[in-house]
Amino acid sequence: MFKNLTKNLVSFFLILLILVVLFSVASENWGLLESPERISTRNLVEKINEGEIAEITLTGNEIRVFLEDETEMIGRKEAEISLLEFLERWGADEEAVRNVSIEYEEETDWGWLTTLLIIFLPILFLVIFFQMIMKKAKGGASSALDFSKTKARLFGEGGLPKKDVDFEDVAGLEEAKDELKEVVEFLKNPKKFSDVGAKIPKGVLLTGPPGTGKTLLAQAVSGEADVPFFEISGSEFIEMFVGVGSGRVRDLFQKAKAKQPCIVYIDELDAIGRKRGAGLGGGNDEREQTLNQILVELDGFDKGTKVVVLASTNRPDVLDPALLRPGRFDRKIILDSPDLKARKKILEIHTRKKPLAEDVDLQEVAERTPGFSGADLENLTNEAAILTARREKKKITQKEFLESIEKVLLGPERKSHILSEKEKEISAYHEAGHALVSSLLSETQEVRKVSIISRGQAAGYTLKMPMEEKRIKNKKEFMAEISVLLGGYTAEQIIYDETTTGAANDLEKASKYARKLVKKYGMSSLGPIAYGGEREHVFLGEEISEEKNYSEEVAAKIDKEISKIIKDAEKKAKKILKKNEEKLKELAEVLIEKETIEKEEFEKIMGA
Ligand code: ADP
Ligand code: MG
Ligand code: ZN
Repeated sequence: MFKNLTKNLVSFFLILLILVVLFSVASENWGLLESPERISTRNLVEKINEGEIAEITLTGNEIRVFLEDETEMIGRKEAEISLLEFLERWGADEEAVRNVSIEYEEETDWGWLTTLLIIFLPILFLVIFFQMIMKKAKGGASSALDFSKTKARLFGEGGLPKKDVDFEDVAGLEEAKDELKEVVEFLKNPKKFSDVGAKIPKGVLLTGPPGTGKTLLAQAVSGEADVPFFEISGSEFIEMFVGVGSGRVRDLFQKAKAKQPCIVYIDELDAIGRKRGAGLGGGNDEREQTLNQILVELDGFDKGTKVVVLASTNRPDVLDPALLRPGRFDRKIILDSPDLKARKKILEIHTRKKPLAEDVDLQEVAERTPGFSGADLENLTNEAAILTARREKKKITQKEFLESIEKVLLGPERKSHILSEKEKEISAYHEAGHALVSSLLSETQEVRKVSIISRGQAAGYTLKMPMEEKRIKNKKEFMAEISVLLGGYTAEQIIYDETTTGAANDLEKASKYARKLVKKYGMSSLGPIAYGGEREHVFLGEEISEEKNYSEEVAAKIDKEISKIIKDAEKKAKKILKKNEEKLKELAEVLIEKETIEKEEFEKIMGA
């Protein structure tokens, strides 16, 4: 109804506008349309003197002349003098003039129209523009002009169709699910809890690296409990216009309470929930007010409120402590990257609806993807499907899965990047060095694949997979890892007597491990003291925000320890490679020829 009105209003204004313009144009050229002949002043005066003129009409400075024979002519007088003066000046006979009937007509001044247009046209355009935005906003889910309205998306109960996920669709994360079962219970049957005076957590914070299933888990909770789900991202509170964040929070909670029991899910809580007053990025009044409003809302929940707020972040370390106090987000659930078993389950979940060939072995895929997040694995299954379709096959085979691993891991193969012969040779020795050290140190993992095909950032790569994934590592394993990382560098040194920039990434990683050994794990002569930050789950920005809680003296000692570890590891790598130089050369030669060596062949070369 309102929409129609707007539409009518707009068309009405448009038509009016067109009419006005047409009219003004036409009126200006009115004379032209009829176009009486023009008459020069000299001619006019002559005609007056000869008595040929019956009538003169003066409009402004325009002289309309009607002859005795009724033809009409047009002339002009000078401005600022009267008609009589004008005619006399040009030599009109006083007597003759008196015989002409002269009429003075009010000038129709179209100037007012121009003025009107200048004033009203912009307003008119503004109005139309405004109406158009309104119309658009009404059509969409949110209102662009209603700034204080929340941008949260509602799933279920009159909102968007609800995503059909429950705990079955979330692989692994058993502890997290256990904790959330309580929330589900509460949402399903709040009375049971309130009857015995139990207080249910208002806020649950899900933390974990990106892609580990935080959003998915929150959706699953709402699916299990069968309640509506409000979803909003922290950044959406503040986006675009300042001064609206806290209003949006108020609006969100008002809407949520109207639909209770329900879940409010705030993604990227760190976008608003950063420590106030200080910290990275500086203070931000808008954010503080938004955060304050969230705290006010959380505190304002009374016993009867059946709204549970789930929030997620991958930066729990930067959150304002006030958010984590009891009665707010006091329940913290940590989502870890999936382990082998969980990875297999995730793969199973995401291949449920895909046609798989007989030879598909998801266990092997899972074994080859340590460090992959749930999102990575989903991406992998999708890549495999795309590859299958491109090859015009009907079913996905193991080959496609294995190829997709590398694609997800390292970015698409850079076919355009062709190594020169020399580069290829150096890469081959470099990778052979990694592989050799890795296979000859018993503490390291077995080598699955060695390749010098450049992908993404890496010029070549050695895939080594853990026999089993370990949560706890000892110093020997760390040292072995560092030796393997230095294997490439060392191999280049042995063969060419110099090293290349290709080893930069390895060195960076090796130094990071060594630093951790000394500063975090107490695995050096400095003893069991943790230097630097104490935070455990930091995914980003560790280096920037780390507090230095030791003296310069200790810092020097730490540096010394680190360099000792690196030197020891390098020595070990060198010893192994020197002793097996023949094998190194053999491996490198095969690599130059074939570019990749699979596990079986690698073992054959090593065994021979
Ligand atoms: P986050 O919010 O932690 O960044 P998401 O929940 O958005 O991650 O996960 C992205 C996608 O990855 C999900 O839609 C899901 O398909 C997949 N995924 C992540 N973790 C899991 C898991 N544990 N089980 C099944 N799928 C998962
Ligand atoms: Mg998410
Ligand atoms: Zn390397």
